[in-house]
Amino acid sequence: MDDRLLHAPCGYLSITHEGKIISVNNTFLVKMGYSEQHLLNQHIEELMSVANKLIFHSYFYPFINLHGHVEELIISLKNSEGTAIACLINGKRLVVEGVEVFDLIIVQMGQRMNYEQELRTAKKQIEEAYWQKDRALEEITKLNLEIEQKQEELIMINESLIELSVTDKLTGLKNRRYLQEKLEDQMINFSINATPFSLCMIDIDHFKHVNDTFGHQVGDEVLEQVAYILRKFAKTEDVCARYGGEEFVLLLSATDVVQSKVKTEQLRRSIEEATWVTGRLTVSIGISTFYVDETSAGLLKKADQALYMSKENGRNRVTHFVDTSYHVK
Ligand code: GH3
Ligand code: MG
Ligand code: MG
Repeated sequence: MDDRLLHAPCGYLSITHEGKIISVNNTFLVKMGYSEQHLLNQHIEELMSVANKLIFHSYFYPFINLHGHVEELIISLKNSEGTAIACLINGKRLVVEGVEVFDLIIVQMGQRMNYEQELRTAKKQIEEAYWQKDRALEEITKLNLEIEQKQEELIMINESLIELSVTDKLTGLKNRRYLQEKLEDQMINFSINATPFSLCMIDIDHFKHVNDTFGHQVGDEVLEQVAYILRKFAKTEDVCARYGGEEFVLLLSATDVVQSKVKTEQLRRSIEEATWVTGRLTVSIGISTFYVDETSAGLLKKADQALYMSKENGRNRVTHFVDTSYHVK
């Protein structure tokens, strides 16, 4: 055998048509731990397990006989210690001096197997990383959703807290603080478009008598019923507030002196005509209407003075400030 082939960087074997080894290079002998005498004239299948023999028979022989060559056949060959070494075999059919032989190039696959194993491990790790990334993304999406829900809940809680902070507990009407804010708003509105608005102070007549005769509980129910009538009477843009114990304020937007008297008289009458557990119930009302150079405190004071006049003049009546002696014409 040519010296270069003898030490080629891969194993080289020649076998007969029946599989008998007729020549072998040094590289193969060294790698597999055999001596030349050991292998020459041996059947190549001696180096194979039963399973590998089957592969060799069912693939190698039919293929090389049909095509004249075999490429990249992976098969295990036993080394001198009996250890199976995975080998990649390329084979070629030749006719040498009238005799058919198969030349085989044999490359040990140990290293390649390691590379493949490493690749497989790397692939698995990448897949695992992707899976974890997906899981983390899912988790983040879930958390974001929860945060959004909590934020919505917070907004709702805040809204209800704000609502609570401006609401009278017993009647559900707005409280004094809210009224004050809206009064300022109406004044700003007036400075822009000069729309007059009116403030009506409503006080239940002889309410102490209600409590004294029917008890505090019934007194509360009466307050709630007055609140109900007020709420029904008011327009969306008006404000109904409980101003004190049995005093209410109705802030009528876009309402001048004449309109305020008409509307408030309707309200007074509807309370008088309503059915009450106490039998009869009336209210006295004082009105003031905002025009110019007024303060909120001044407006409230004028409505109170007008209310005082309603009480003075026999209760169950409406008085506008402009019709009182307090008004300077
Ligand atoms: P007037 O016609 O002059 O307004 O007489 P009045 O009895 O209505 O007025 P007064 O100010 O003498 O009495 C008001 C009563 O309202 C006294 C107080 O106990 C009662 N009151 C105040 N707040 C509440 C409440 O939340 N519930 C009940 N049931 N009574 C209340
Ligand atoms: Mg009162
Ligand atoms: Mg009263």
